[in-house]
Amino acid sequence: MAAQTHLFKCLTDNYGVLVHDPVTGATAAIDAPEAWAVDAALQATGWQLTDILVTHHHGDHVGGIVELKERHGCRVTAPAHERQPIPAVDATVTGGNTVTVGRLVAQVIDTPGHTAGHITYVFPDDKLAFVGDTLFSIGCGRVIECAPEIMWDSLLRLRELPDDTLIFCGHEYTQANIRFALTIEPDNPTLKARAAEADRQVAAGQPTIPTTLGEEKRANPFLRADVPAVAAAVKMTGKPAVQVFAEVRERKNRF
Ligand SMILES: [Zn+2]
Repeated sequence: MAAQTHLFKCLTDNYGVLVHDPVTGATAAIDAPEAWAVDAALQATGWQLTDILVTHHHGDHVGGIVELKERHGCRVTAPAHERQPIPAVDATVTGGNTVTVGRLVAQVIDTPGHTAGHITYVFPDDKLAFVGDTLFSIGCGRVIECAPEIMWDSLLRLRELPDDTLIFCGHEYTQANIRFALTIEPDNPTLKARAAEADRQVAAGQPTIPTTLGEEKRANPFLRADVPAVAAAVKMTGKPAVQVFAEVRERKNRF
């Protein structure tokens, strides 16, 4: 039986998500923005929390860990390179490691850039990727702790996943990201369709995620820094993709 997911909003614009193995009953929270919201999601689903899989150390991703661990006795898995600021860690992982949630197996991919030790959890059998604040729908995370080259490499690593991989990210930023992306590729048909879809979803009170990697590859300017039209849009035709990426990211910072 396939993994089940349950997505929920928390804090101001964060997403929490539960991943559930219906065979064993094991359930992981991907990050723990705040304990009460995770508990409400557990109540809504009837699932029992066995694991917390942490993507990175920012407070809006780890704030609920201590309370949830006290209440549920769950195992906390965190990125090896960010063990220090993350509370109550039981196990650390890095790229190439695997994590099991019941019978589900997640592969860990190193995706530094937003933070220096940021990791992504991919469940290949179910084609689910939990990318934290590395990739957003039509956007990417701010490059805070690393050089742009590092972030671009991380995005290239994610871009190698199958196109039908469902991408779960840490925030609802899609409409703002689309407004920016349209300044880079105003005539991109996938992007224009995504803009209409996101408007409809938000008006209906629905989340705009998960998205798929295939759609992101066609519409997300941060995954398209090596596409000639994107380089041309920032007047960098012929320049290395990593420089185009850095320029697009810089423009988004100022947008
Ligand atoms: Zn973050």
